[in-house]
Amino acid sequence: MSGDYDIVIIGGGLSGGSLALALQGSGYRIAVVEAFSDEQRRSLPAGDRALALSCGTVCHLKSLGLWDELQQHSAAILDIHISDRGHFGKTRLSARTEGVEALGYVIAARILEDRIASALEISDIERICPARLTSFKPARDSISLTLRKETSDLTLSTRLLVGADGVNSSVRCFLNIGQETRDYHQTAIVTQVRPDIDPAGAAFERFTATGPLAMLPTLDRGCSVVWTQTSAAAEQIMALDDKDFLTRLQNTFGFRLGRLTLESKRVQFPLKLVRAKAMIGPRSVLVGNTVHQLHPVAGQGFNLGMRDVALLAERIRDDLGKDRDPGGNRLLNAYAASRTKDHETLIRFTDGLVRIFSNEWLPLIGARGLGLLGLDRCYWGKHLFTRYAMGLGGRLPRIGTGLTG
Ligand SMILES: Cc1cc2nc3c(=O)[nH]c(=O)nc-3n(C[C@H](O)[C@H](O)[C@H](O)COP(=O)(O)OP(=O)(O)OC[C@H]3O[C@@H](n4cnc5c(N)ncnc54)[C@H](O)[C@@H]3O)c2cc1C
Repeated sequence: MSGDYDIVIIGGGLSGGSLALALQGSGYRIAVVEAFSDEQRRSLPAGDRALALSCGTVCHLKSLGLWDELQQHSAAILDIHISDRGHFGKTRLSARTEGVEALGYVIAARILEDRIASALEISDIERICPARLTSFKPARDSISLTLRKETSDLTLSTRLLVGADGVNSSVRCFLNIGQETRDYHQTAIVTQVRPDIDPAGAAFERFTATGPLAMLPTLDRGCSVVWTQTSAAAEQIMALDDKDFLTRLQNTFGFRLGRLTLESKRVQFPLKLVRAKAMIGPRSVLVGNTVHQLHPVAGQGFNLGMRDVALLAERIRDDLGKDRDPGGNRLLNAYAASRTKDHETLIRFTDGLVRIFSNEWLPLIGARGLGLLGLDRCYWGKHLFTRYAMGLGGRLPRIGTGLTG
């Protein structure tokens, strides 16, 4: 196969797939190149992670025509309890106080990926899968690409190349765009538990000395666990048998939901903050985890990627009647300028949370306790914070970042 495309998206995961769907019907010839077949993707343990979707992301999924079906597989988050284990600070965010149906929704990543892949199958987007980008040659009006598909090579040309191929992006490497990285030396352990007491839509974020523990409500009264530990501690915890693992988890979370029963195997994810040094190159743009991989502490990685995708699709569609060049400099520069602030704010916030809440220095413990209490008592502060977490605007407290190039 060979061909001329207007837009080629490398990576058909959550960001790349959503972008392609947002551009369907635009009249552009679009291809999505994905390294894994559907069958391979479904068997990846990473699909077990639960995603907390903000209301903003849900709105975008609605506009892509995906939400009606996804909602049946999602649990609404009605309350979020945030506490600092062993210390006095805590606060609670509530959908009722905000006058909304839900603060967000929890869904298994695999279900969302499947829904996106099956919507692509019946769209006007070409899906080249399984295939990988192997070489790249930029010219003035297009980029020439070679893909490896099973045992043969395919040559394509495109006017816009989108890198949505994740943190180890080949597109980013071909563009010679470097990364800034902060290794947290932490690992997230992900599993499912069933508590004796129905969480009834409550999500819990407990900050502990070794890292945050999140319990997200899932369908059928279950909870999805994202338990962050130092990498050394995570190694030991992963080596425990199920009974000892559960005892350790129960001791860390407490008995707020009664006794916990383990419902699935454990999967681990090493955690790093990674940010690409640029978002665009000649006739190319990076979106989602290719630009920013965040710590899952605030459950915002894909929500941020979805905002990239929504804005890029909007810019490309707005430009349809003008230059009709999706890879034009004007469009790409305007896109990058409009995304920088959101990226910086969220990166600073999540990174700051990890550093502040993983620190047992006494004055800092006091300050974060006061911070949580302050948030709890200040209606407007809490309202703005909740709206931001829901992906509906609002403001975040200013805290610093510590990336290394
Ligand atoms: C434990 C954990 C919990 C999380 N919880 C949340 C949460 O609650 N809420 C939230 O919003 N986010 C959460 N996230 C973050 C979220 O999972 C990511 O932000 C999201 O998966 C990024 O999607 P992406 O499509 O940008 O990148 P990826 O998921 O990395 O997808 C990249 C795609 O590109 C393909 N690919 C790679 N290389 C190539 C190549 N050379 N050629 C072709 N294809 C290629 C891959 O197969 C894949 O399909 C969590 C992450 C973790 C680890």
